[in-house]
Amino acid sequence: MSPSAPIALTVVVVGLLAVGWFFGVILWTTGAALVIVFLAYAQGIRDRAEFARWAKRPLKSPPDSLGRFYEDSKSLHDALNLERSRNRRWLGLARRFRDTSDLIPDAWIVLDQRMMIEAVNRAATTLLGLEQTDVGRPISALVRHPEIIRLLSDEEDLNIVEITSPTDDQKKLELRLIRIGEDQNILMARDVTELNRLLSMRQDFIANVSHELRSPLTVLIGYIESIYGEDLDPDTTKQIIHRLDAPAQRMKSLVDDLLTLTRLEASPEPELDDLARIDCATLIHAISQEASSLKNENHSISLDLERNLSVMGVGDELHSVFMNLLTNAIRYSPDGGQITVRWYQLEGNARFEISDEGLGIAPEHITRITERFYRVDPSSFRAKGGTGLGLAIVKHVLRRHQSSLQVKSKQSEGSTFYFDLPRAE
Ligand code: ADP
Repeated sequence: MSPSAPIALTVVVVGLLAVGWFFGVILWTTGAALVIVFLAYAQGIRDRAEFARWAKRPLKSPPDSLGRFYEDSKSLHDALNLERSRNRRWLGLARRFRDTSDLIPDAWIVLDQRMMIEAVNRAATTLLGLEQTDVGRPISALVRHPEIIRLLSDEEDLNIVEITSPTDDQKKLELRLIRIGEDQNILMARDVTELNRLLSMRQDFIANVSHELRSPLTVLIGYIESIYGEDLDPDTTKQIIHRLDAPAQRMKSLVDDLLTLTRLEASPEPELDDLARIDCATLIHAISQEASSLKNENHSISLDLERNLSVMGVGDELHSVFMNLLTNAIRYSPDGGQITVRWYQLEGNARFEISDEGLGIAPEHITRITERFYRVDPSSFRAKGGTGLGLAIVKHVLRRHQSSLQVKSKQSEGSTFYFDLPRAE
């Protein structure tokens, strides 16, 4: 029934009564009017019962049978559905935000003005040991650290502190407090262990390079100062120039190796176009002759090289690998020692293997010898003349050729260095 129905009903009833009175059949028309009123009333009760039934589940479309309640029920139903889809959207957004924040490796903790926890993400559990059940508790009672107390206190003008992770004492965390207005704060924690390690590696590297350059430079300056303004005879001049050669060469080797290492680290992996077919047997043969002519000692170098075993690689990079391993074998074996170089096919790969009968390397050093400037015996490296960068270069080149250096060694008995490269078809 429409909103105008009661008016229409009144008009009909009054009309009937008027017609009855006018024609003298008032009894008949009054009876008819009563029947109409009754029927309308009964319809109203039925509509109300339908409405009550529908109102229990107002998200379902209202049936046509709601009669005069239909229009209002429809408006209510549309408004409720709109609200429901809005809520669903917000809920979806909130869920996505929570899921995304759980993927973030940094921990974040939302705190109220009293530094009580309001929300935490998953990384807060791994880094700080906080759980969802800690919501509502004070952060200072859960992560007990004087630095955190300092960070949270209003008195100190401090935004960042570094602490050891309460869940893993090997981890260092950087904590940052972000104050949002008067009543909310966000505490963020990120794992800076790796960053700290890289920073200290960089500091060590700079200190090592400076130290390595300083020693030959001091020798050079010493000689220059001693002859400055002296009137020297040609023989003495020749002798001094001869002595200046070693430290100058040392500095040159160091700078060359540093440049090689920097270039290797900075350049992207070689593409197919950068690779050439390398006839390693010929290359190794040439290098062994080059190395023999450089050394003053009398090592016996035996070569066992399989011909026609080529690999795809970057020629000058592989040259520096073979050269570094061969000069090391010479440098760390006694005069006259036996060195064996092999290049052979093994399970579809090409293997380079160099063995010496020299000093050997104790197991605790083996994992570290490819680090820059790492020396097994730091007291004797100057006499031996290496730069401390040779094996770091080897490691980088092999990594760029999808290979890695392997070492077998026994102290005082000798070492074998080897690696595999896929053979060129
Ligand atoms: P270096 O220029 O000092 O030789 P490397 O990076 O080439 O630097 O080698 C690192 C260290 O590994 C060397 O200082 C030496 O202690 C050890 N080492 C390398 N090759 C051998 C080898 N064939 N025998 C014994 N020790 C070796």
